[in-house]
Amino acid sequence: MAYVGRFAPSPTGPLHAGSLVAALASWLDARAHRGTWLVRIEDVDAPRCVPGADDEILRQLGRLGLVPDAPPQWQSRRGALYETALARLVADGSAYGCACTRLDIAAFWLAQGQDRARHAELVYPGTCRPERGGLGARTARAWRLRLPDASVVDWHDRRLGPQHQDVNAEVGDFVLRRADGLWAYQLAVVVDDAEQGISHVVRGEDLADNTARQILLQRALDLPTPSYLHSPLVLAVDGQKLSKQNGAQALDLDDPQAALQTAGAVLGLQFERRAGTQIGDWLAAATHAWAARVNEEARS
Ligand code: GLU
Repeated sequence: MAYVGRFAPSPTGPLHAGSLVAALASWLDARAHRGTWLVRIEDVDAPRCVPGADDEILRQLGRLGLVPDAPPQWQSRRGALYETALARLVADGSAYGCACTRLDIAAFWLAQGQDRARHAELVYPGTCRPERGGLGARTARAWRLRLPDASVVDWHDRRLGPQHQDVNAEVGDFVLRRADGLWAYQLAVVVDDAEQGISHVVRGEDLADNTARQILLQRALDLPTPSYLHSPLVLAVDGQKLSKQNGAQALDLDDPQAALQTAGAVLGLQFERRAGTQIGDWLAAATHAWAARVNEEARS
């Protein structure tokens, strides 16, 4: 199978030390497999996007020598694909309209007792499922995936090892199209990964707990499941994932090799910096080291 990987940033701001680790890991994995590397701008959540951040990210990647093998794609231009996928799920009974607000869901769990409420948080209890009477006189606000009865997913992460999630118990029927009309990340990412022929997903560990949901959605749409590798996060001084909210600095691209070295160190790649070397030399050495890891992985 041909290797196709991707980096899929949400344009909520420029790349920072944390997002560069994910970008570099996906680029290295694609290069080490002699595969194709794509960039997809995940701008479906329009209110969270910052105008110009997409161009800024692409410019930063270019400066770091991480250049996609095909023109980037923007999710905001791919609505027709998501529309078709949702229509198909609705037609075969795998998705349904939901009229519940967050308050309705919280009230449901409160009525089950405080303990259940705390534990379940906003797990969707399936109130609007067709077999429970559906919407009745109410109007659909959002669209949800109707989880299969067997919704326990066991999957393998190339770095984290065996993973397990009972999606029904921990999440419930999840949203595919939001009440504000926007496409949910889960639907967009699953449709795009399949449509772009992505064979290997390499992304930050903060996204790992979306994977079981994405696998169930792939199954509902008869799409293949890619292989997954979740890369280490860069933590801020407060121990939280590095983000703009807790002070992630924009990358200093006056010295792109230093930025690559810092990101590489998070991935366990450390090389002496020799005078006069270019980013291309650093990237070649890093690819070589990553390829050795991939070979090791194939042997074990
Ligand atoms: N757009 C997501 C983010 O920036 C990443 C999605 C993915 O790689 O699956 O957090």
